[in-house]
Amino acid sequence: MASNTMALTPAEAIPKLKGPVVCVFCGANPGSSPTHLAAARALAHIMAASNLSLVYGGGTVGLMGEVARTLVSLSGPASVLGIIPAALVKYEQQTQDPSPTSPTPLIDSTIFGQTVVVKDMHTRKRLMATAVVDGGPGGGFVALSGGYGTLEELMEVTTWNQLGIHAMPVVIYNVEGFWDGLVGWVQKAVGEGFIKRDCAGIVVEALSAEEVVVCLKEYVNVEGRFGLNWEEN
Ligand code: AMP
Repeated sequence: MASNTMALTPAEAIPKLKGPVVCVFCGANPGSSPTHLAAARALAHIMAASNLSLVYGGGTVGLMGEVARTLVSLSGPASVLGIIPAALVKYEQQTQDPSPTSPTPLIDSTIFGQTVVVKDMHTRKRLMATAVVDGGPGGGFVALSGGYGTLEELMEVTTWNQLGIHAMPVVIYNVEGFWDGLVGWVQKAVGEGFIKRDCAGIVVEALSAEEVVVCLKEYVNVEGRFGLNWEEN
């Protein structure tokens, strides 16, 4: 959208993160190679050194938990915001048993940062994107290794960039060739006329955590994006 903002209703007000905000999409599983967990930690370290805040899906497990836990240990709980749908909270490491009288969240903020529980996936994804847009330049969307959820979230924000719903960077951290299949598919789709040649550049590839931050800083939106106004009713 032209103003590069996303509308929020007052009822959805979420804690404000400091500085540029990076939304990290990644697996709720750790992966079978320790390289994926190491990449998650490396990303958190470079984010801390670069004063970047994290918004993510609120998980305490897998790569999701590792990024959040590591960044909280380096930059403190105020640097991390997890946004999780109520239905998923039961899969998380909780500090106490849920009961009708104890309101969520039960996720330990001293370990995983701030958590906001929302009603559904669409709300979560919109609020994560809003936090990134509100954080301004230097922030963006980063995909570490992951499964269906990670791929779906990555492709959604890529599509939203192409449609002009936001104008923030989209970066894949390609750990040991994990995303090579996606990079190949994009080239195939360009060759077959399904993706405009310059729109192949909406997703940029980083091969190290340091490169992720450089990609976020130096990102240039491609020419072929849709010039749509998403504020219109
Ligand atoms: P995947 O890449 O399939 O592991 O999925 C990661 C995404 O799945 C997250 O961003 C969530 O949307 C969702 N998800 C799956 N399990 C969890 C969990 N335990 N906590 C939070 N989100 C989860």
